[in-house]
Amino acid sequence: MKIVASDKPIVNETITDLDKSNPTGVADEGNPSLNGDADLSGDSDLSREARMAISIRNILEDVGEDPSREGLLKTPQRYAKAMLFFTKGYGENIYDVAKKAIFEADHNEIVLVRDIEIFSICEHHLLPFWGKVHIAYIPNGRILGLSKLARIAEIYARRLQVQERLTQQISQAIEEILHPQGVIVVMELVHMCVMTRGVQKTNSVTITSCKTGVFKTDKAAEEQFEFLLKMKHT
Ligand SMILES: [Zn+2]
Repeated sequence: MKIVASDKPIVNETITDLDKSNPTGVADEGNPSLNGDADLSGDSDLSREARMAISIRNILEDVGEDPSREGLLKTPQRYAKAMLFFTKGYGENIYDVAKKAIFEADHNEIVLVRDIEIFSICEHHLLPFWGKVHIAYIPNGRILGLSKLARIAEIYARRLQVQERLTQQISQAIEEILHPQGVIVVMELVHMCVMTRGVQKTNSVTITSCKTGVFKTDKAAEEQFEFLLKMKHT
């Protein structure tokens, strides 16, 4: 198998990261605070972390705490570091990940990577949600290195998200990288904002899916996906 170059990306929300005029790879949409003067590398990382820590210190005061007590002294910095890690997907793009892992192949059957664990942050409450994503596609002359499917999911999960958009973005990314016969992405996630506040349904799992191509038009393809998803590990 030989590596084939990925196509020039089609312009859309996902791919705005790749615009040459935007070398930081920061998406234009959904990320206003990182546009303009912000940079995602070098010294500015420190200043973003420091700015964030100041904000967290204010939050600690507003919940009635004393940010100068010993147990909380380093909490703002710790939280800022953690939040920058949880949102590191803004600084990454799918084509960097995929470009050396696209191969020509005659395989015409489903490729499924299931039970990929992901962790994301809900954009409505800034609380975590997590669980499993299953990604399948039927190639159309090209395949992607298997680990890259999980990496693509990770790039979008490490941003502020809603589950519905996350599902679509992963599916759209594979569509655009591989132009396969079809893609299907299914997510089974639990949301801390649902578990711990409001209705407090602690056991509820939210399932979303996004289908393209043959998975939409060919019932047999979708059934084959469901069969593979249910297969037990041997
Ligand atoms: Zn939420």
